[in-house]
Amino acid sequence: MKEFTKEELAIIDIVEHGMEGNGLADDEIMKLYAVDWRSRVAAHIRWAGGTMQYEMSNGTAEIHAQIGLNGTPCPKNCKFCSFAIVNDLRHDKLEMPKADVVEYAKIYEDQGANAILLLATASYKFSNVLEMASAVREVMSPGMPLITNTEDITLDQAKQLKAVGVNGAYHAVRMREGEDTEIPVEDRLQTFENLREAGLSISTCVEPVGPEHTPEELTRATRLAIDSGALSAGVGRRISVPGTVIADRGMIQDDRNSMNVAIYRLAAGKHIQPLNCSMSSALSAASGANLAWAEVGTNPRDVQERTENGGQGYDIAYCRDQFEKAGYQVLEGPSQGWML
Ligand code: SF4
Repeated sequence: MKEFTKEELAIIDIVEHGMEGNGLADDEIMKLYAVDWRSRVAAHIRWAGGTMQYEMSNGTAEIHAQIGLNGTPCPKNCKFCSFAIVNDLRHDKLEMPKADVVEYAKIYEDQGANAILLLATASYKFSNVLEMASAVREVMSPGMPLITNTEDITLDQAKQLKAVGVNGAYHAVRMREGEDTEIPVEDRLQTFENLREAGLSISTCVEPVGPEHTPEELTRATRLAIDSGALSAGVGRRISVPGTVIADRGMIQDDRNSMNVAIYRLAAGKHIQPLNCSMSSALSAASGANLAWAEVGTNPRDVQERTENGGQGYDIAYCRDQFEKAGYQVLEGPSQGWML
């Protein structure tokens, strides 16, 4: 085999440092994100992240199941999202009936989901989020985490979510927030603060990552996710929705996404965020993603009324199968990584 170059050996040194488990400095993270994802050191990074995550979790993975509550056009205009008014892809007021939401939650728990998440666009009334969360909480096992993903919320709203039995929220400062979206970064950061103060747990992610994002941008987003206090985090690629204004930017490949997942694990170390997202394939699972999202209802990554009918959402069987192909067992019962 060809000897390693000085540059390759420098990357291997950073990987070794990451595998000690105490996290990496920003300059080290940036060097990993700059690695060519088709190179042999990229394979080494994927191996290292995968090994570290597997050991941290004892080979246990989790599936968090999302119910998209509505698909009404959203004024926040995130350019990657099918709900954004600017993309002109969805036109009708579309809200899932409460009976269906409750039924999906029951089905998901029966199928082995480890947490349930309710997703709503910024055009969905907050009172409806409370109503749906309350109804779902009633039919879920008491120990099963209930998570929401809504627009930015105030401290008072965060407290109201907690009062109806919500355990936490998915929340992120997305890539190029404020530039590819119409949401100021400050609003996103304030919501993190409000969630923490209300005693809600947080799930976050470096997302949605596309080919245009630089190692510097990825490093900044990674540091923010590490410092967010989230219980679960990781990296997720953008799914390009045909017809969106940024569709021509394309998507990153699965192996590049898997390298990013591995880098997040090495960057965060082994003492925080035991769930690393997001699993999209057996390769990403083998590279360190032990958290997958299954999806029903509306989905910002497609234009279906229900993503389970030919859209982009994974079902629980797919997630389980990919984890098993990578040697993981899916946890039975309520989330451990999200134990509150
Ligand atoms: S990502 Fe969320 S806030 Fe942005 S347009 Fe889509 S639904 Fe609205």
